Amino acid sequence: MRVLLTGAAGFLGSHLSERLLVEGHEVVAMDNFVTGNPQNLAHLAGNQNFLFIRHDVSDFIFVPGKVDAVLHFASPASPNPLSPYGYTNLPIQTMKAGALGTHNALGVARAHRARFLLASTSEIYGDPLVHPQPETYWGHVDPIGVRSVYDEAKRFAEALTMAYHRYHKIDTRIVRIFNTYGPRMSLDDGRVVPNFIQQALRGEPLTIYGDGLQTRSFCFVDDLVEGIYRLLLSDEHDPVNIGNPTETTILDFAETINKIVGNKAGIVLKPDLRLGDDPQQRQPDIRRAREILGWEPKINLQTGIERTIRYFKEKMEQV
Ligand code: NAD
Ligand code: UDP
Repeated sequence: MRVLLTGAAGFLGSHLSERLLVEGHEVVAMDNFVTGNPQNLAHLAGNQNFLFIRHDVSDFIFVPGKVDAVLHFASPASPNPLSPYGYTNLPIQTMKAGALGTHNALGVARAHRARFLLASTSEIYGDPLVHPQPETYWGHVDPIGVRSVYDEAKRFAEALTMAYHRYHKIDTRIVRIFNTYGPRMSLDDGRVVPNFIQQALRGEPLTIYGDGLQTRSFCFVDDLVEGIYRLLLSDEHDPVNIGNPTETTILDFAETINKIVGNKAGIVLKPDLRLGDDPQQRQPDIRRAREILGWEPKINLQTGIERTIRYFKEKMEQV
């Protein structure tokens, strides 16, 4: 396949680019570097099956040549207002990437009769009242809350994707991605994994926003990419959760990171830094992924975190 991948210079986009090339596909990678980094793709530059186009997906997208599949991943993804990459600092760009960007990416799929895959998110469930979250749950989202620029843009993107599927008969897929981590997350990303790993490596206390009793379920990037690739090859049009169901409190997670790194500085509670509408608990129900895709995560937290630490160590030595 010749695949248009938006958001290719980001964390997930760079891993997906690699996987698609390994599987023998051609990749047309698109990004405007708002939160991504050309370094994430530098090693692919000489590959004859790889083409990079610098472009903002909120503007009309033109791709020279044929397109067999469109994977729409372009969007800021970190909620942290302390990060320059946080979507609360890029509110209009985030809404445009989810709304106009999705419309343009679907337009490419329609023009080429290509299959389409949308990167959606567990955030569409909001601060969930059902736990763990199955795909049938409609969510609990504040439409005007601080996180709404991201959540509502993704909810709109899902609705638009289903409209193109139902009305224009586009062969669409929707993946609801739960917290994923790994190498190539930006040092400035502000999400909990890059923050904790860098703090631990510097021998500083890990900053816990709130009381740390909120939960997340962390998936290593290789597992996620496997699930997304299987979904792309499947015929499933309804949303599929992809994530690791092993749930942990942020407090326990901080202690795990400190233990793996050997950081003696402990933790510090920062109740003021907890963002409004921060989900209290999050765990994917992955029964559909198991049944439809035969997929489940294989990499445990210890292994995934050790691989991620190696990456951050190297990057921190370079700056
Ligand atoms: P990231 O910030 O590393 O990557 C996003 C990429 O999209 C960046 O390279 C950025 O420059 C690009 N981008 C943003 N707006 C753009 C625009 N208008 N035009 C062109 N490029 C644009 O984040 P990530 O974690 O790799 O997330 C990738 C996708 O996966 C996002 O759509 C995000 O919502 C989704 N997602 C990620 C997670 C996760 O845990 N990593 C969870 C749920 C959903
Ligand atoms: N968090 C934290 N310390 C940090 C960064 C994040 O305690 O330095 C918390 C944050 O409040 C949230 C959880 O960790 O409860 C996960 O945050 P992240 O930014 O990774 O993404 P989210 O899952 O909220 O989208």
